[in-house]
Amino acid sequence: MENRRNFIKKTVLGGMAMLAGARAWSNEVPDVVVKDVKALAYQKGSDRALYVRIEASNGTIGWGECSPNGIGVIQTLVKDLLAPLVTGASPFDTEKLWEEMFWTNHDLGAGGALTYAIAGVDNALWDLKGKLLGVPVYALIGGKLRDRVPAYGGFGINGGKVPIAKATQRAVGLAEHGFKIVKLRAQIRENNLNPADDPTIEYYKAIRKALPSEVTLFVDPNEGYTAFRAIEVGRALADLGMPYFEAPCPNEAMSDTRQAVEALDIPVLTGEKCYNRWMFRELIEKANPDMINPDFSKSGGITEGLKICHLAQVHHKMIVPHNTKPMLASAATIQILASIPNCGPMVEYIETSLYPGICSIFDQGIEFSDGEMLLPKGDGLGLVINEKRAKQLFGY
Ligand SMILES: [Mg+2]
Repeated sequence: MENRRNFIKKTVLGGMAMLAGARAWSNEVPDVVVKDVKALAYQKGSDRALYVRIEASNGTIGWGECSPNGIGVIQTLVKDLLAPLVTGASPFDTEKLWEEMFWTNHDLGAGGALTYAIAGVDNALWDLKGKLLGVPVYALIGGKLRDRVPAYGGFGINGGKVPIAKATQRAVGLAEHGFKIVKLRAQIRENNLNPADDPTIEYYKAIRKALPSEVTLFVDPNEGYTAFRAIEVGRALADLGMPYFEAPCPNEAMSDTRQAVEALDIPVLTGEKCYNRWMFRELIEKANPDMINPDFSKSGGITEGLKICHLAQVHHKMIVPHNTKPMLASAATIQILASIPNCGPMVEYIETSLYPGICSIFDQGIEFSDGEMLLPKGDGLGLVINEKRAKQLFGY
């Protein structure tokens, strides 16, 4: 019931806001529903993306990104399974919609393809919520603790099949591009577990020598080692100055990761292949890594991502996101990092020049400056897509 004091307060505050030219806030959630959900795929070689475009009944549009691995499969999941659940609903009911999208379909696999698909829809809903309210996402999920995070660039050596001179050139190129942290992806597992001719240390030494001393270099063997080899290589690299060690052992061998965590004097980070809060709970309980690296375009989007970050906080873990997409996925990532108290020392990022097609539809994209990813200024996820160019690129 409206009492007299509330009425006077609202009237006075409303009048003051209008005098100041500010938004006159109502205490009602905007009365809109989701009118249309599109899953839009673009692929030209490695320049590829799967975007979700959600239009509200008042014409406001939100955009989100799914990881595009298996692009056609994920597109179909969004189109056939998720879009019907979201269409007609309030875009503000992200928690309810996440539960429906996940539990209605989770017998298809509770992590992986399904959470990739949910991530794009959920991130688009958060973008839409912010745009409808005229505020950035970080303001809706906890406010701002920071507006920039050091970013690292990465390159792969395919188990030693990429010539060392070429790998070195690529690493130096990343440093020249402005990255102050660079990651060598050894891609051991793709070739063999614990290979006898392991190239990691030789490449590390050559690339370390070629990089400016102020640039940090660390290694991700891409889950290529059993416990003893992870410890052996991790110690050798730590002696060469490596400050972090990513994913030394597979997700399927968490006790091996735990042995590496306990034996090494440098932090171990892992978790890019965990796709929901329960997978991260198991990882943390069994492997106990110092830092975890969820990918918010794979692990269910911002709604689930916040739960993962909070779970990590309870267990005293830092968040160092996996993020290999230059625009919408990066935007969702930096909005989360802006608002959580356990943001780690860095976030993954990739050069926009590798994605000329997809980046061409943005009037305002992610900014990378002085080796850092910047929190965009703008409503929702903070990016601006040019609708005309998006229509041409995706053909809708
Ligand atoms: Mg990795």
